[in-house]
Amino acid sequence: MFPVMLSLKNRRCLVVGGGGVALRKTLSLVAEGARVTVVAPEVIETLQEMGQRGEITLESRPYGQGEAAQYGLVFAATDKREVNRLVFEDADAAGVWVNVADDPELCSFQLPARLQRGSLQVAIGSGGEAPFVVRRLRRLLESRFGHEWGEWFEAAARFRREVRRRRLSGPEQESRFDRFFAQTVDAERIRARVPTAAEENAWIEGRRGAHETGDPPPFDGSSSGLPKQERSKLGFVSLVGAGPGCPGLLTLRGQQRLMAADAVVYDRLAASALPCELAPSVELHPVGKLAGHHPIPQEQINAQLVRLAREGKRVVRLKGGDPYVFGRGGEEAEELARQGIPFEVVPGVTAGIAAPGWMGIPVTHRRDAVRLTLFTAHESIKDEGSQIRWDLLAKDTHATLVGYMGMSALPQVVERLLAAGMDPETPAAMVQNGTSAGQRSVVSTVSALPEAVKREGLCPPALFVIGRTVNRAERLAWFRRLPLAGERIVVAAAHSALAERMEASGAETIMMPLPVTPAARAVMGASPLTGCVVCSPAEVEAFDEERGGPGWEGKVIAWCQGPETAARARKLGWQWVEGLERLERRQAM
Ligand code: SAH
Repeated sequence: MFPVMLSLKNRRCLVVGGGGVALRKTLSLVAEGARVTVVAPEVIETLQEMGQRGEITLESRPYGQGEAAQYGLVFAATDKREVNRLVFEDADAAGVWVNVADDPELCSFQLPARLQRGSLQVAIGSGGEAPFVVRRLRRLLESRFGHEWGEWFEAAARFRREVRRRRLSGPEQESRFDRFFAQTVDAERIRARVPTAAEENAWIEGRRGAHETGDPPPFDGSSSGLPKQERSKLGFVSLVGAGPGCPGLLTLRGQQRLMAADAVVYDRLAASALPCELAPSVELHPVGKLAGHHPIPQEQINAQLVRLAREGKRVVRLKGGDPYVFGRGGEEAEELARQGIPFEVVPGVTAGIAAPGWMGIPVTHRRDAVRLTLFTAHESIKDEGSQIRWDLLAKDTHATLVGYMGMSALPQVVERLLAAGMDPETPAAMVQNGTSAGQRSVVSTVSALPEAVKREGLCPPALFVIGRTVNRAERLAWFRRLPLAGERIVVAAAHSALAERMEASGAETIMMPLPVTPAARAVMGASPLTGCVVCSPAEVEAFDEERGGPGWEGKVIAWCQGPETAARARKLGWQWVEGLERLERRQAM
């Protein structure tokens, strides 16, 4: 296979077929400036509208023999193999490049998977030998290749034009390009940064940048050493609480700030609150712990916030729960204040209140609990943990005690409370992934809680609740009783009424824009999916691209509307295929 990147500007292209696949091809051709003709007896609404708006030439009729020969590039995506074959043969005979969707035998060229950062494109192909690696590699690159590369590329193109204008000799040009690359690209971490105007000027003149020391380029906080006049565009940072896990618990203001952001720096625990419709141009920087990766040190996160703000961006720092409750939000705010960067705080629903509520525990109650203590179990069992008055907590009989980061510290906490005189029979509970589809909980007494938690196999993130109000958990457990509790289902955003019904029945629903956005991918990957609602074969195709990515590791049932949709899912190798009506019956229960 010989890779090329074609210029399609004003080129005549033919798409035969009128379904979802034809639409996708048409959209990407139109985006490149091609003159597209779509031929099909019937086409879906979006194509019809494009025809009416004059964005494409729409011919509502069957394909006629020989037509393909008149075009520069031809695609066939009909559900009739004879038609696809005819198109292929016509094109092939005329020496026109042709691609038939999902039929490698009928293709004289294949489309690579691509990664785009602004005008920069990386294409991946497998020569048809192992197509399964292509999608996975794209996803891998997608997660490694930050959005800053788009801006960096624009700067590089500008730099090149400027260097070319000077009419320097070949080697002189090359040395300037080398300097640009070396000073802006961190090859180890595959990160890039946009140089300052002063740096660019210095490099064009063949000088070193004022701040160049020969050290690695300043990716993080070190740009804080820039002189005042270079900080002309000061950005702004919103420290936003994402809530405890259920996406609907993000505040309205938090959502507004996200929708207006240029860059979002988010914790893994907060990813499910990202709005799926966030524009692909918004930079997404995950910084939380991920299995197999070291968490990014706090200083580096602080520095990143400063750097992004100094680039003049509106930055959202999205943190689980409330940013100031055991989340080190205070340290981030202090750093911003120290660096003179304007910021605000958008509080969030903290897990210590929401998760008990979801499992049926009111944290205060008129007779049983007149005080609420939130504390971090992890910190408080350390030696200097005499910060905590165990004696007071143990004897505070009309209070609720909520311990964050309490999984591994639980046995020691219980030991200290009992030693300080707490009644061993005091009701106590532990809740994991509270408010999200993965919520699990156990109710016990304080003395038996560590054993019960172990038996149930709960794991972080979890918190424990100790106090009389825990007694109400069984009676008030409203969430657990919802028919779709525990389901985490992705559904195309077009079916919002369906999604709302499922949500009201307890499912966590992810409304997926098609084509899928990077933010939506981050949301899907935030925790395991259990299902995927697909209403047409085209939707199966769209979701098929995502299958195997983060969030899809476990059993994900394809709830299919209609036999054709189910047939397409089976054909593409989906393992668990069910009729959508079965889900709807469960939901109505
Ligand atoms: N700022 C966050 C807390 C961060 S500390 C907030 O306000 O909620 C992280 C700890 O919060 C976890 O170890 C766990 O104890 C708790 N936590 C966060 N989300 C949780 C959830 N959905 N269910 C139970 N505990 C949670």
